[in-house]
Amino acid sequence: MLQQTRVAVVEERFVDFLRNFPAIEDLAQASEQDVLALWSGLGYYRRARMLHQAAQVVTNELGGMVPRTALELRSLPGIGAYTSAAIASIAFGEAVAVIDGNVERVVQRLAGWGSTERNGQAELLRNTEQLAQVLLDPMRPGDFNQSMMELGATVCLPRNPMCMVCPLRQDCITRGEHLTPPRARMRSQDAAYALVIRNGIANREVLLQQRGANETVMPGMWELPSLRSMEVPGTALRMTLKHAIMQVNYSVRIRTVFEEDVEEFTVSSTGRRWVALHSLDTLPLTGLARKVLRRAHLAELATIPSEPAPALN
Ligand code: SF4
Repeated sequence: MLQQTRVAVVEERFVDFLRNFPAIEDLAQASEQDVLALWSGLGYYRRARMLHQAAQVVTNELGGMVPRTALELRSLPGIGAYTSAAIASIAFGEAVAVIDGNVERVVQRLAGWGSTERNGQAELLRNTEQLAQVLLDPMRPGDFNQSMMELGATVCLPRNPMCMVCPLRQDCITRGEHLTPPRARMRSQDAAYALVIRNGIANREVLLQQRGANETVMPGMWELPSLRSMEVPGTALRMTLKHAIMQVNYSVRIRTVFEEDVEEFTVSSTGRRWVALHSLDTLPLTGLARKVLRRAHLAELATIPSEPAPALN
């Protein structure tokens, strides 16, 4: 959960997640929709799907035993070089260096390496991995790896590294004299959604639709129906808000639409459903749907990040 999502956002969801899935077998036996519902609001839902699949492999094929080495861990769904090294070193004490964006930056600044001085990015990364492995404390690899990641996240910052308070200052070749990486450019886009509420048999209900299983972003998640256009005469503007996903900043308009106007004003969808407001937390909602329903005071839902969960580097 903490990979690319802030601690404050994770804290609340983590407790809920463990309460529902206290053992790896519980996670393995859950439906994907239940897992996604408990992940709702954390973003980067591929992590939840992969974690779920990994739990199934561990339970069904490995007798419930989580692999203990980085090499073996990489055979699990969704576990690559970074995650396998983090688990193996922190949980099982294997002397293997973790390389995330923060560690990469610290090591390259320590050594005085810039991407322009080496033979391309691939060789730079190889050299960085080798040096990180040399620097690793084999007696306390988990602590060392966490220290390096934390140093990169809090001291050796991408733009303004705090070299004066850095514990590695004496050994660092660049000490702040390095090329600053270019900032990723965010795109802007408009989006409009319909908020459709009705009084159901026992409770108030909201109309939601499920994203297709083949969507590249948030497949299978539940969202508000999309409006055909930003301006819809005869509907009331309920709220405007900003919402960022990946590298896109969305300016979002939410309009109140009556049940009888849904077909006319919204983009048609086959996966629609009326959902009782009190049961919203059981569905994997998109971050935007969650944000809108909270702001409209329609549901008490867990807090979500107001902007894209920032990468650690
Ligand atoms: S001295 Fe400065 S550039 Fe070097 S590792 Fe520390 S914070 Fe980074």
